[in-house]
Amino acid sequence: MRYSAYYSTKFNTTGVTADTVTKADHVAALVARLEQWRLVEPTSADLDELERVHDAEYLEAVLTGEPADLAASNGIGWDEMIFAAAASSTGGIRDAALEALRTGGPAGALSSGLHHARAESGEGYCTFNGLVVASRAALSAGARRVLILDLDAHCGGGTASLIDGLDGVEQVDVSTSAFDVYRSRADAQLVLSSPATYLADVEASLGLARAPEELDLILYNAGMDPHEHAGGRDGLTTEMLETREQMVFEWARHLGVPVAFALAGGYRTSALDLDGVAELHLLTFHAAAAG
Ligand SMILES: [Zn+2]
Repeated sequence: MRYSAYYSTKFNTTGVTADTVTKADHVAALVARLEQWRLVEPTSADLDELERVHDAEYLEAVLTGEPADLAASNGIGWDEMIFAAAASSTGGIRDAALEALRTGGPAGALSSGLHHARAESGEGYCTFNGLVVASRAALSAGARRVLILDLDAHCGGGTASLIDGLDGVEQVDVSTSAFDVYRSRADAQLVLSSPATYLADVEASLGLARAPEELDLILYNAGMDPHEHAGGRDGLTTEMLETREQMVFEWARHLGVPVAFALAGGYRTSALDLDGVAELHLLTFHAAAAG
């Protein structure tokens, strides 16, 4: 059995350089060597899918570059290729979601830069909210309940705003930074954590979803940026993130709910290069394929 990891060189076919965009190539090089995974080219998100999540004015700005501040509201810049790059990356997590629903097994996407994007703009390195595009695609394919589990270091405020009132989609979010914080509510529960309590907080958060055995899909935003050398906080180690990944996938396996995951955050620092960041992301692929 080989699981599908959706990735395209298009993710990074843009002059806008940021770790969020470029690291997929490094992760792909490592995933290509794994026995249990195969890289699969996704179908790019089309304008109809994107218009269900984002305002037409914002999409037009990302297409044309005008107005410039809206076009570059992702915070990493704009060029004429970034629309296609972000649409491909969005298609990656959407295809992973549909594949996980179809097979019942895990599926991955080498997509990053999703959860801060909101209807009217990008934000925090995120251009399009692929998590919400993927959730809507899953609902259209027959899923009744989708849980977005967001363990990126930063809060998923963009996602929380986009699923407000969207029946069938809920979020559980454990963050170690208050960036993009939002008011926790029944369908978007946020826990602000710290290194000392991190694993206990993640474990407790897995108990927050109502009737989790009735979920049809878990969309896991598997950020590695809580890591002390990947943009996170001192004391949050590789071993802790390895344990986190095992906890998440064992929980989902126990429930019998399929998981589709995206890379999300994880950044170069003076202590870690992009290949080191890519190695951290492999923890997710290993845990997903175990058991
Ligand atoms: Zn982050």
